[in-house]
Amino acid sequence: MPNMSPEKIAMPEQEPNKRNKNFFEVALGYTEEMAIEEAQRCLQCKHKPCVEGCPVNVKIPEFIKLVAEGKFKEAYVKIKETNSLPAICGRVCPQESQCERFCVRGKKGEPVAIGRLERFVADWYIKNIDSKSDVPKKNNKKVAIIGSGPASLTCAGDLANIGYDVTIFEAFHVPGGVLVYGIPEFRLPKDIVKKEIDSLKEIGVQIKTNMVIGKVFSLDELIEEGYDAIFVGSGAGLPKFMGIPGENLNGVYSSNEFLTRVNLMKAYKFPEYDTPVYVGKNVAVVGGGNVAMDAARSSKRLGAENVYIIYRRSEAEMPARLEEVHHAKEEGIIFKFLENPTKIIGTDDGWIKGIECTEMELGKPDESGRRKPIAKEGSEHIIDVNSVIIAIGQGPNPLISSNTKDLETKKWGGIIIDENTGATSKEGVFAGGDIVTGAATVILAMGAGKKAAEAIDDYIKNK
Ligand code: FAD
Ligand code: SF4
Ligand code: SF4
Repeated sequence: MPNMSPEKIAMPEQEPNKRNKNFFEVALGYTEEMAIEEAQRCLQCKHKPCVEGCPVNVKIPEFIKLVAEGKFKEAYVKIKETNSLPAICGRVCPQESQCERFCVRGKKGEPVAIGRLERFVADWYIKNIDSKSDVPKKNNKKVAIIGSGPASLTCAGDLANIGYDVTIFEAFHVPGGVLVYGIPEFRLPKDIVKKEIDSLKEIGVQIKTNMVIGKVFSLDELIEEGYDAIFVGSGAGLPKFMGIPGENLNGVYSSNEFLTRVNLMKAYKFPEYDTPVYVGKNVAVVGGGNVAMDAARSSKRLGAENVYIIYRRSEAEMPARLEEVHHAKEEGIIFKFLENPTKIIGTDDGWIKGIECTEMELGKPDESGRRKPIAKEGSEHIIDVNSVIIAIGQGPNPLISSNTKDLETKKWGGIIIDENTGATSKEGVFAGGDIVTGAATVILAMGAGKKAAEAIDDYIKNK
């Protein structure tokens, strides 16, 4: 008999008032007993609607059945058939708009906690199974992968597993992309990302860091070096600003700079690590996505008393994952909906003393389908803040495209690809992830890396 409880088994978490002062992981994961009980909520639907909601078609009912039977190792093997980074996806996928959105249990209660079960299985495997992979037999063909985010890691893993000699070129000094420089430790412990990267090294993937492609080497030079194909997964890491007065003041950050200082450079361990970061007593974070939530929650952990999320639409339109919004509220982040910054106000010595905002109301839907925010006349007011973090989106860095002949891009800079293969307009060059779609999700980037790996294999075999 399935467990007919309308609610998911709750996941143990650190107390909000304790966790908002440390960088340890917020959610602590299911125990074996909890996982089995939650897995028993799955009805094993014959038509598997949940699978359609997963961009990489994880065999959801099958792995959940194995969890319900206590066969955790087998459950892991089942997930890995289609998802190479389950410990990461179980933590950061927006499940409410993907797999869990289609779960039939969601019609009369909460859906099955697919993400939590996936995370449990992956963590259980890491903890209990000492697996070392053998280096696959080489086929003497070389592929260069640009960037080391989830799109690139997936593409690299899939190609290395079928014998390709794969080299990743990463601009930063540490591989992992947004998984290491963007998403904070309290949501995704960096040890987990490191383990995934170590497992790629085990199967022979070489990683060259501090390699800014477009500057150190061009794509054409890599082709001349003898690479049979190239995958570009360079992400969307170029910050956008609002273009309002005061953005040049001390204490204004792009979310990218702020989060890179905190996560990659470990500013929260300053002076043990030598990168500082200033937040002050009051912080304004502008934006309503996951990036804004991460910046706000990090600011609180760095000691800010009042952290405001300033978002120009209402809560219903916020693109952040529901769990992140819920956690941010619990941790004391103050949400200011329907407000739009118009000016950052400075002190005489170039620091920040406040941010001027206008109240907004929602009009008709715009081209994004969301209701357009319209300023209310005469509603300007000032919020006292000492720092401002701008988290209104990122675009692709033009370094690679502007230094490569024959690589077609869209107006906003995204690389144009054939949707079925990931092939770009340049012979032998494939692309996927945020550099193609603009800022999206980890699992979509992984799906793109997987598709491109298959196409690269076909391309090289038929060359
Ligand atoms: P990235 O992860 O951006 O990796 C690109 C890599 O390429 C980087 O390491 C970069 O340094 C490198 N690179 C760039 N240019 C060059 C060059 N010229 N030469 C060499 N290397 C280069 N998604 C979710 O699903 N759930 C979440 O909870 C979530 N939270 C997020 C929080 C933050 C703060 C951010 C910024 C994003 C978040 N996302 C989330 C989005 C998700 O992380 C991205 O969609 C995903 O990482 C894109 O993967 P990618 O492989 O395309 O690129
Ligand atoms: Fe759900 Fe993401 Fe796992 Fe797919 S990979 S089943 S969307 S948590
Ligand atoms: Fe189980 Fe929900 Fe998928 Fe049905 S839709 S198989 S209940 S996870």
